[in-house]
Amino acid sequence: MICTGAKPSTLFEKLRSLVVHAPWLVFVGLIFMSGSTYSPGFEDTDWSTRRLALLRAIEADVSRHQIVLGSSSLSSGVSHAMATVPRHLFVPEQFRTLAYDNNPLPIGHQQTISQPTIVAIMTELLAIDPADTVLEVGTGSGYQAAVLAEVASQVHTIEIIAELAVSARNILHDLGYSNITVHEGDGYAGLPDCALFDAIMVTAAPAVLPRTLLDQLKPGGRLVAPVGPRNATQWLNVWIKQDDGSCEIRRIIPVRFVPMVGESDE
Ligand code: SAM
Repeated sequence: MICTGAKPSTLFEKLRSLVVHAPWLVFVGLIFMSGSTYSPGFEDTDWSTRRLALLRAIEADVSRHQIVLGSSSLSSGVSHAMATVPRHLFVPEQFRTLAYDNNPLPIGHQQTISQPTIVAIMTELLAIDPADTVLEVGTGSGYQAAVLAEVASQVHTIEIIAELAVSARNILHDLGYSNITVHEGDGYAGLPDCALFDAIMVTAAPAVLPRTLLDQLKPGGRLVAPVGPRNATQWLNVWIKQDDGSCEIRRIIPVRFVPMVGESDE
């Protein structure tokens, strides 16, 4: 079990360091790109323009939900993360042009990458501090893990479908996310060897929140998860762990997630 990682090295930090330390390299890169066709490792202005338009749509959604969210806008960290992570690289090639529509998309194995507004809201609800270690249950494409890695120090993410875990690990590695560890396994058990966590996010819906996950949350920590029956409306809830081990629960918005499956689901 790998529970530590190198210091975070976000995309933004890498690009900033490239511009500061080797501006000529950026210049050469731009000349090279202008003569090339699509290169998945690089950004072109079209993707970043679309990503910013998506961010505006997310902000409008957040503003509409301000009463339940307790805020009318995204924090600067989450806003920056949504403007930075290249969602188009986490979706299957045939859906790439739809990556910056504010919708969930299929990622194979009957699973989905979540709607960007939901990704932003769930990240915001965790109120992550830059020094925090976060657990995500349900890696899927790896996109949400990348968003979390932009605002947290360390991210552990666990996925039950081996092929998705491998693919997410490869994409995140290619993008240079050294502060994310992708684990393969059943998230019902959490990650006892890496606990306790400052924050936990569950991105598949269990019928009832597994108690094990709450046990792996630090006092003062937050857990966000959709909970409810399969193929019906579920509720996105936030649990805030108190010093005495009890939890305050807030019901946020109705949602529709793929079910959390695994041993404890039978
Ligand atoms: N966060 C993902 C992303 O950014 O693409 C989307 C997650 S998708 C809505 C839910 C994921 O949870 C699926 O990949 C599914 O295989 C996974 N999953 C379901 N039950 C699980 C379990 N018991 N443990 C770990 N992963 C699980």
